[in-house]
Amino acid sequence: MSENAVKETKEFQAEIKQLLDIVINSLYTDRQIFLRELISNAADALEKLRYYKLSKEKVQDEDLPAEISIETDSTSHTLTISDTGIGMTEEELVENLGTIAHSGSKAFVQHLMEGNKEDINLIGQFGVGFYSAFMVAEKVTLYTRSYKPEAKGCIWTSEGTGSYTIAEAGDLKRGTKIVLHLKEDAREYEKPETIKRIIKQYSSFVPFPIKVNGEKVNTVQALWVKNKNEVTEEEYTEFYKFIANAYDEPLFKFHFSVDAPLHINALLFVPKDNFERYGFGRLEPGVNLYCRKVLIQEQSDIILPEWLRFVKGVVDSEELPLNISRETMQDSALMSKIRRVITGRFLKFLKEQANKEPEKYKEFWEKFAMFIKEGAATDLNRRDELVKLLRFESSKSEPDELISLDDYLERMKDNQKAIYYLNGPTREAIENGPYLEIFKERDLEVIYTFEAVDDYILSQLGEYEGRKLLSADQANLELPDHQEKNRAEDALSDEKIKSLLQWLKEKLGERVSEVRESKRLVESPAIVLSPEGMTNSMQKMMRMINKDLKNTGPNILEINPKHSVIKKLNALREKGDPFAETAARQILDNALISAGLLYDYRDMVNRMYEILDRALE
Ligand code: ADP
Ligand code: MG
Repeated sequence: MSENAVKETKEFQAEIKQLLDIVINSLYTDRQIFLRELISNAADALEKLRYYKLSKEKVQDEDLPAEISIETDSTSHTLTISDTGIGMTEEELVENLGTIAHSGSKAFVQHLMEGNKEDINLIGQFGVGFYSAFMVAEKVTLYTRSYKPEAKGCIWTSEGTGSYTIAEAGDLKRGTKIVLHLKEDAREYEKPETIKRIIKQYSSFVPFPIKVNGEKVNTVQALWVKNKNEVTEEEYTEFYKFIANAYDEPLFKFHFSVDAPLHINALLFVPKDNFERYGFGRLEPGVNLYCRKVLIQEQSDIILPEWLRFVKGVVDSEELPLNISRETMQDSALMSKIRRVITGRFLKFLKEQANKEPEKYKEFWEKFAMFIKEGAATDLNRRDELVKLLRFESSKSEPDELISLDDYLERMKDNQKAIYYLNGPTREAIENGPYLEIFKERDLEVIYTFEAVDDYILSQLGEYEGRKLLSADQANLELPDHQEKNRAEDALSDEKIKSLLQWLKEKLGERVSEVRESKRLVESPAIVLSPEGMTNSMQKMMRMINKDLKNTGPNILEINPKHSVIKKLNALREKGDPFAETAARQILDNALISAGLLYDYRDMVNRMYEILDRALE
């Protein structure tokens, strides 16, 4: 190739001069993105050629293989990127690499000049990606020959300072070859390892072979644009390992495309395990955003809501506009549309999986429940869908079985108006505590909740499918078939109960808001209930927020007049024995312990010794 003697020097358009000034004179940490830009231009040129060939246009050098070749040379300190795409005619060169037509590109240059230089890595999305070559090159020489048979080859050169030259070239083959004469501080880009690493990061899915010094480096296919039935399970797994940096297989895989209202291809995975659960810190978002197979945003925090940060995969949308910067991406209507569509489809997918493969869904639930709960508690727009994904243990489930709210509805009693749930630290604690007694007796199912967030979600929800959601420890529960039961023969008389209640309120004072006879106790002597509008777990939550809170409440104390402890207490009281008061205080504390609401144990422990002392006599 010999450079022709007729060499013309031309000025860049003003905006390009400004852009180049920024590109050349600032130090960017992210300058490796120049390679993504040049490769994506090469891929575009090859894609266009494929199109022209399909439309039966006559094409120069018909038989050249469609590929991108990269050569590194540490002697001449050059990096050369060649493609066999459509190339450019002289007029096209002037137009494409000398002027900016898009108003969006101009606005981008303006944006950079206003001090937002860190946004330079968005250069590709603003139709000026080519100029990023000057981040690493002190001089760029570009050889190109158009696919149009009558066109001549051209050589374009520039040092990025205001002007460029164009000359005619002799015997070029179709396509474009860009030689970057690397800056002294950019010599790392003459190393093939560096180049391969960058290609893996940004350009793995470019649909044409990319060779570095003759070796093909992009071996993973962009599966998301393929048809589902053209992809094997092994390919999916390999792909997942690649994009998620994982060593195992995914738990779920969801491959889908959407045509309306937007064109989207997506391939999403749920990993086998959730490391956030083990306290390894908050997961980073795991979905990458692509536009026609070229990476736009890695680990996008915009494409899915935060509570789906455990999802890995790829979303590709052709509609991403050129002029989109980080800030505008955050609140762009298009991005929120994509997010809405993807989130909706993914939740629907989970629901289907739960129905189709309950065992697998259970595995998912054990590991990823925290995210579904986070969503249900914080994302009002998705709450209704998320609530259907919740799973619980219940008084009627087998120990390792989980039920949904729908399962509960399906088997609840005809005359039952509400769904009941009850919080406790463990299944055993709930089942041995006093709160469940009445439900056991009436054969009513109670959902067990083990975390405060469960109660938060259910109480916020208020009702499900027209049925109230009620915490089983709340005061004034109205249960079905509720009829005054005759007190057992040997229970205390009305009169005695009345004066016992009065006495208890007097002795317990501020610590209780009310003392009353219980209609729900069967085996326990006493129970505390949260005042109207509160639940025990709300009280626990308040205490979690304010650790200084010595006691919660005051709560309602209910006593069981059939219980021998209560009867003996009354007898002692009637005799005027001062030990009756000690026993009464202990009964309240025991009830508070059952409720998980006793935080200051000192009084209680000392009193226990006092009681032991007497018992051991
Ligand atoms: P964009 O790719 O967004 O259009 P660029 O600054 O990257 O912006 O490139 C500008 C234009 O230069 C391209 O649209 C294309 O017409 C032309 N071009 C760049 N590189 C090549 C190439 N390798 N082959 C053919 N044309 C190219
Ligand atoms: Mg480009």
